[in-house]
Amino acid sequence: TDIGSQKDRVVSEEEWLQKWEMGNIGFHKEQGHPLLQKYLDVLLNGRSGLRIFFPLCGKAVEMKWLADMGHSVVGVEISEQALKDFFAEHSLPYCEEPVPEISGAKKLQSISGNISLYCCSIYDLSSSILGKFDGVWDRGALVAVNPRDRQRYVSLMMTLMEKNSSYLLVTVSYDPNKHKGPPFYVPESEIKSLFG
Ligand code: SAH
Repeated sequence: TDIGSQKDRVVSEEEWLQKWEMGNIGFHKEQGHPLLQKYLDVLLNGRSGLRIFFPLCGKAVEMKWLADMGHSVVGVEISEQALKDFFAEHSLPYCEEPVPEISGAKKLQSISGNISLYCCSIYDLSSSILGKFDGVWDRGALVAVNPRDRQRYVSLMMTLMEKNSSYLLVTVSYDPNKHKGPPFYVPESEIKSLFG
């Protein structure tokens, strides 16, 4: 079946960078994701001033929403263009600095200090660099991870979570024999085995 063939499929970092360059970013939601609004209370769980992580963040507008609510947002994304577009599209001034632990990586931080976006691969990061988080918004992230890297991705995410953190995961339920994406099919049974 196509689920089987998806298992070995790989979208390379180069291909992602190309998508950004060509403006081939149908995954980006200008209006933000309705499910974050719907489940915001689950994410926050009555808490304020949280540290929230956006893995594979693109230029997700939800980062701005949460920062405006007083939370501190950290994202990671390989496309520098995506991150620069994010700050430009929200008219947020930012500064850039190298990340000493990771060669070639940069951190783009809003001048107000509450949005820090790492430009590197998520696999270069660790809790010693990022610290831990009270919440995670995973939309277009687990489903974008190459199937062979899923276990590694989830293990890393676990190490980034505080004891009481909440993890909102958006997946898409569809017939993988009929549709190719977005971009990978992650069956519910696999989500259960990955996250336990
Ligand atoms: N979460 C965002 C973007 C989803 S698309 C949203 O909701 O709009 C997946 C994003 O992951 C792309 O922007 C791609 O450039 C980025 N990406 C792919 N592999 C990555 C990796 N290993 N590390 C960091 N970012 C990656």
